[in-house]
Amino acid sequence: MTRHHPESMSLMEYSAGNLSEPHALCIRLHLNECSLCRSRADTLDSLGAVMMEQQPKVSVSESMFDRILAKIDSSPTPQPAAKPAPRISILQKLLGEDINNLPWKRQLGDVSVLDITEKFPGQNEQVVLQKLVSGGKAPAHTHRGTETTIVLQGAFADQNGVFNQWDFVVLTDQDEHKPVAVGCEDCITLSVLSAPVKLTGTFTRMLNPFIR
Ligand SMILES: [Zn+2]
Repeated sequence: MTRHHPESMSLMEYSAGNLSEPHALCIRLHLNECSLCRSRADTLDSLGAVMMEQQPKVSVSESMFDRILAKIDSSPTPQPAAKPAPRISILQKLLGEDINNLPWKRQLGDVSVLDITEKFPGQNEQVVLQKLVSGGKAPAHTHRGTETTIVLQGAFADQNGVFNQWDFVVLTDQDEHKPVAVGCEDCITLSVLSAPVKLTGTFTRMLNPFIR
């Protein structure tokens, strides 16, 4: 079960079609597997529809809007919502291969990467698949911009907790972490990077922008 979810604002931007293609893919993959967020997205869609209908008769203040979002975010009970198409078709369509059979490039130690930015022509962001072997450690690093990541397989842990399959995490330049792959499967993630990461530990000499 996923424990780390996208923020309501991201779900709204997704519904409105305002997200870049790689970001929308991350949200779509998460929604496919998370009934809680499908329910949240439905609620937000309804809210958006009501607001559109009411305009310009009723204006919703910013603080009220924030309260509504906070309420949706804190909703403890996942409501069942219709399950969209299985995620495998989305990923396989994109990658043309099973995720484990991709031409991974070994970076250092336990980390392999595959840059798939070219699959999103016209985007400014870098899109990278990363694999950490089961039990493996990634070097400590920070991020120069915002990085949106979804776990596609396995799980990793850092000081913020354990991130399981389909968990969603956004890291900024304020975050330094040193992920470790936990569980018996290799951990594979999909990340959308607005700027390269910066290594902070002993591997600084390996100035590779793809290591997370
Ligand atoms: Zn969710």
